[in-house]
Amino acid sequence: MEKFDAIVIGAGAAGLFCAAQAGQRGLRVLVLDNGKKAGRKILMSGGGRCNFTNLYTEPAAYLSHNPHFCKSALARFTQWDFIALVQKYQIAYHEKTLGQLFCDDSAQQIIDLLLAECELGTVTVRLRSEVTSVEKQGEEFVVTVNGKQVSTHSLIVACGGLSMPGLGATPFGYRLAEQFGLPVLPTRAALVPFTLHKPLLAELQALSGVAVPATVTAQNGTRFAENILFTHRGLSGPAILQISSYWQPGEYVSINLLPGTDLAEFFAVQREKHPNLSLRNALAKLLPKRLVECLQTMGDLPDVALNQLSKAAQQDITDKLQNWQVQPNGTEGYRTAEVTLGGMDTLALSSKTMEARDVQGLYFIGEVTDVTGWLGGYNFQWAWSSAWACAQALPFA
Ligand code: FAD
Repeated sequence: MEKFDAIVIGAGAAGLFCAAQAGQRGLRVLVLDNGKKAGRKILMSGGGRCNFTNLYTEPAAYLSHNPHFCKSALARFTQWDFIALVQKYQIAYHEKTLGQLFCDDSAQQIIDLLLAECELGTVTVRLRSEVTSVEKQGEEFVVTVNGKQVSTHSLIVACGGLSMPGLGATPFGYRLAEQFGLPVLPTRAALVPFTLHKPLLAELQALSGVAVPATVTAQNGTRFAENILFTHRGLSGPAILQISSYWQPGEYVSINLLPGTDLAEFFAVQREKHPNLSLRNALAKLLPKRLVECLQTMGDLPDVALNQLSKAAQQDITDKLQNWQVQPNGTEGYRTAEVTLGGMDTLALSSKTMEARDVQGLYFIGEVTDVTGWLGGYNFQWAWSSAWACAQALPFA
């Protein structure tokens, strides 16, 4: 049976980076992935340009039942460390917004970087290699892949979460944890668009494709200020994806379509200058025309001139535009979710090494763990940081 110092399940961001780092320390490393290409999610990420980290990475940008867990790895391998690597490979990048760093050209450059780093570490990467079972025999993990067996003292589970099954996602990492008696927290699709109940969806149909800057607030008070996008299924856009991680089924979200605007003052000024201006045309100065028309069709805007607008009607409009209460029907689920909330309970892992406290030699890194970042490069940074921490700790066989 072939033996390796370490076997990594999953050639995604976390698996490839961990393998490369361990290989460069001199370990003999094997990476196994069920897909025909390495790093498939990386290729899809950031609209094909990979938002590979965030300048403002900090533990507060991560959701976890154990919020302290991510601190050590994020502090030991930081966004600056990954940026230095990107610079070493002369990959041109830019900050798009809010500290989000994207490749100028293509996400393929990040995959090429990872594969080049693996080559430096003489890592063996085997694709089209689905791991179907793992058994522990003494100190060895015996891994069955494509009907053959390989073994190791150090098994690194980097097989990601459940989002985007079309890109190879499987629950294998969770099943493996359970097989070894380790706790797995309930999972849920996150960074995912909302679907809406049919009546509201029908009313908003005409808005499909319209984007507006907004603030969106979850029932627990968490708030994001970015664009929202009306879609033919419901609501999407960065602010919605962000808030989806904080939303529980049945809850409302509050949407302010005019953040930073004092509507009372706006109406007062407009009324003074243009008393005969229709409410609709006044609002079209602040909002996309299609949105204003839709509000009117929905019966939310009286067909009046500004000088006929009653105080009560003005308050109604203000509530509708700045505190719009929406109860999503659900989310689009794992099919389109960028990440999975929950997963391998980090209380059972060492935050320094990512090794399971009760199963020597078994490590969990990346998205399979219950650490989920905000939108904006935070999830890749967790992949790099957790992978790096693990790679430093792996022993020679
Ligand atoms: P993955 O990248 O999911 O890798 C796991 C690998 O394991 C997969 O290749 C899978 O096929 C393989 N695997 C699973 N089971 C088995 C098995 N039994 N045997 C063998 N192989 C197996 N995050 C950002 O920070 N910035 C972005 O711009 C960004 N954009 C995204 C865009 C999209 C469309 C999606 C879906 C996600 C995006 N994310 C982004 C999130 C980010 O891609 C993930 O958090 C990150 O890829 C997780 O890395 P990972 O290595 O833990 O898991």
